Order: sequence, then C-alpha cells, then structure tokens
Amino acid sequence: MDEKIRKIVDLILSSKYTVALTGAGISTESGIPNFRTPGKGLWEKLPPAAFSTWAFKTNPKTLYEHGLVMFGDLLAAKPNPAHRMLAILEEKELLKVVITQNIDGLHHKAGSKKVFEIHGHLRTGTCMKCGKKYKMEEIMEKLKEGELPPRCDDCKKVIKPDIVLFGDSLPPEEYGKSLDAAKKCDLMLVLGSSLVVAPASGLPAAALREGAKMVIMNKMATGYDREAEVVIHKPLGKTAEAVLKELESRPQNI
Ligand code: NAD
Repeated sequence: MDEKIRKIVDLILSSKYTVALTGAGISTESGIPNFRTPGKGLWEKLPPAAFSTWAFKTNPKTLYEHGLVMFGDLLAAKPNPAHRMLAILEEKELLKVVITQNIDGLHHKAGSKKVFEIHGHLRTGTCMKCGKKYKMEEIMEKLKEGELPPRCDDCKKVIKPDIVLFGDSLPPEEYGKSLDAAKKCDLMLVLGSSLVVAPASGLPAAALREGAKMVIMNKMATGYDREAEVVIHKPLGKTAEAVLKELESRPQNI
C-alpha cells in the first residue's frame, strides 16, 4: 500500500494536467449509499424506474415520494477526507478539475472550485414549462407543506430537480467540457466509480486514447483496472489521508 501511495504522489507531482473523475463511491463514507454495492446499494431500496424521465413525466409524484428522504439526506451530508483531498490538490495547483457523476454537491462543500457535474445537482430545480428556477430549499419547503409534486408559482407546472434522470441526455456543455478535459489530461484519477454508467464511462477511454496515465481508487474491481498505473481496492477515506500525508512529506509541496 505504501509503495502504491508513493507512486500516486509521484504521478501527481510529475503531471502537468491532472483530472479527477468521481462516482457515488466517493460519497459512501459521507453516509450516502451508492447504487450498485451488493447489500447496500440504493437500487435495493428504491426502484430505478422512479428515476427515469418517462416516470417523472407520467407521474412526477413518484420521484418526489421516493426521493424525499434521499434528497434530504444528500443535502445534509458533509464532505469526507476524499472530497477534501481533491479540494487540497486543486488549491495546491496539482489538480485542474473534478468531473463528477454525483448530484450531492459535496465537492463544492469541500472547497473544490472547478467541478463539472455531468449528472446535474440538487441545488436547484426548474419549472418544466416556463423554465423558472427554484432553490432546493424552496422545493423542500413546498414538499413539507404537502405540495406533491411541487409546482411553479407562476404557471403551476411541475418543477423538476436539476438532475439527470435515466433517459435524459447529459447537459451538453458540462459533458463537452468534461470530454475536453479528459482528452487533454495526462493523468486521470478515478475515485469511487464502477465506470459502467455510460456515457461517463467513456471519459477514461478518451483519456487513455490520448495517452494519459490512470490511477483507480475504488473498492471493487473495474473494467479499466488493467489499463491503470496504480489500482487501490480499499475504502477511499484512508487512501486519501495517506496520499495527503505522503504529499506533505515532500518538502517542496507543503
Ligand atoms: P456505482 O454505484 O456504479 O459505483 C460506485 C463504486 O464505488 C462501486 O464500484 C464501489 O465498489 C465503490 N465504492 C463504494 N464505497 C467506496 C469507498 N468507501 N471507497 C472506495 N470505493 C467505494 O456508482 P457510479 O459509478 O458513480 O454510478 C452510479 C450513478 O448513480 C452515478 O452516475 C451517479 O450519478 C448516481 N449516484 C449518485 C450519488 C451521489 O450523488 N452521491 C449516489 C448514488 C448514485
């Protein structure tokens, strides 16, 4: 493990353009379950169908009913050492951008400034007819008052959280910038992603095609492990703390 941590730090220090790609696994230690871990995944509690755009259009109540607890948990969650490590790397100018599949906003809460949220976020929602924006606090307030589904004050149409549902396309600008960063990077750090959810799973492929090196930190094996310079199948919090400790032991980087 120590040797792997030293190698990760060497790669970060010698890279000119490092990008991080994060998935649900970076937030499990903040108390948010991921989708696919057997026995613990969200899919074992919530029906995936509730998170499709088709279901939302036909019966928007379902997403809010199932999502109510989850949204509250996500909004209350706090960043953990892995989110903080990425914010510190950015502050030290050792990381250009975080590309995240998560909607929990924990990278921002940890202090990361440049974050591409390719599956959207829970900070706001949008009226599906007139496009009026609502803060999530306003949406939660409507829900608490029994407004199910929450509706626009002006046109009374349904408000959709600004997250990507199954069947939605990714926000084109956010994904375009992510693909550019993946192609441009010389080092991609993957943290807590099974790398099976398309099209985000195409980002490591794009990086590798352009000659980037890759580090994978994920509890379970991924389809990209064989391509990576370093692979760590351990809980991220401990790995992140070890990386920061190693980085601080290099005098020029404190
Ligand atoms: P996934 O569920 O497919 O995979 C998560 C991976 O993280 C798994 O391979 C698991 O082994 C690993 N993991 C779990 N806990 C870990 C830990 N403590 N340390 C290291 N690795 C750990 O997640 P995904 O690939 O991100 O795809 C699921 C989709 O669901 C994403 O697109 C995301 O948008 C969404 N999602 C988001 C959240 C969130 O915002 N926090 C939560 C659940 C799902």
